[in-house]
Amino acid sequence: MAFKTSAYELAQPKAESAASHAVISVREIVHRYDGRTALDGVSFEVRAAELFGLLGPNGSGKTTLFRLLSTLMLPTSGRTLIMGFDAAKEPNRLRRQIGVVFQAQSIDVKLSAYENLRHEGHLYGLQGAALKTRISEMLGRVALADRANDRAETFSGGMQRRLELAKGLLHHPSVLLLDEPTTGLDPGARRDLWQYLEILRDQEDVSVLVTTHLMEEAERCDRLAILNQGKLVALGTPTELKHEIGGDVILLDAREPDSLAQRIEARFQVQAQVLGGKVRIERENGHRFITDVVEAFPGEIEAISVSKPTLEDVFIHRTGHRFWTENGESSASMYRQGQ
Ligand code: ADP
Repeated sequence: MAFKTSAYELAQPKAESAASHAVISVREIVHRYDGRTALDGVSFEVRAAELFGLLGPNGSGKTTLFRLLSTLMLPTSGRTLIMGFDAAKEPNRLRRQIGVVFQAQSIDVKLSAYENLRHEGHLYGLQGAALKTRISEMLGRVALADRANDRAETFSGGMQRRLELAKGLLHHPSVLLLDEPTTGLDPGARRDLWQYLEILRDQEDVSVLVTTHLMEEAERCDRLAILNQGKLVALGTPTELKHEIGGDVILLDAREPDSLAQRIEARFQVQAQVLGGKVRIERENGHRFITDVVEAFPGEIEAISVSKPTLEDVFIHRTGHRFWTENGESSASMYRQGQ
């Protein structure tokens, strides 16, 4: 064999991991930029072979945390460890453990898929036949084998993103970090990418941490950390988080929502909040409750919806405000515009 020590073999020693089952450990992280607090005491752990989502609206601190985990900068205080390696003390060893897919493109579109991966392999000390085999394997995995020798500039957005993934995974990392990886992809390419992340978790035991501001992506994660204004506001599986609300979420359209909300609170001893011009109530047996409300306030309610809690409801429940921006533009609609 042409090479003696692969990046994979170098990656084997594990520092503090024997003492902890956490693959990623984020401990009391505070990060400030020129006095502005971007992360304010965030702690959580990611387990082995878990698809973990970091969900939050714009400005909540996702990218800052992503940059800390990928060792691009150090926090103001607190620690991050990956596979037991402390980002501050052993950044080089930590880097061997992670594959990183940034939002910004990192492939060279003037090079072929094969050349991009060969270049990446050399950076990790891979060469010769072993590198060739690994490149073929990765191109096959991301369904680009038949385009190996085509320049990346001739690829669709989805194909380019798959090449980014292959690049991030070439050196067999135990952990894959992805920052909003589906931005700009069409729905088909998004689905493919998520399926691939699930395959990585299930068949290769790779732990995946992905940042997103899209609820439907967060729903696909095994567990979620929800960030708001630099703080962790929820941590758990999507199902656990939604169950916490209990019951149904009722939304009422009314001409005078503020006044109606106050009168509903007084009459039924429930919390009624006005969000986005609608009266919002969390309540068990929602269908029975709306009958009582309509009877109590005849002619005042123009439309009613009763639904099971969503992750956005979890966000509202924990923060008191909507995930979507107040000018009415939702992250989902921004996504549609971006296509
Ligand atoms: P997200 O990725 O969730 O949109 P960020 O981590 O980018 O959130 O930002 C968190 C907060 O930190 C925001 O208030 C943002 O304005 C601020 N911030 C981010 N990067 C910088 C920077 N380089 N300099 C100053 N403030 C920053």
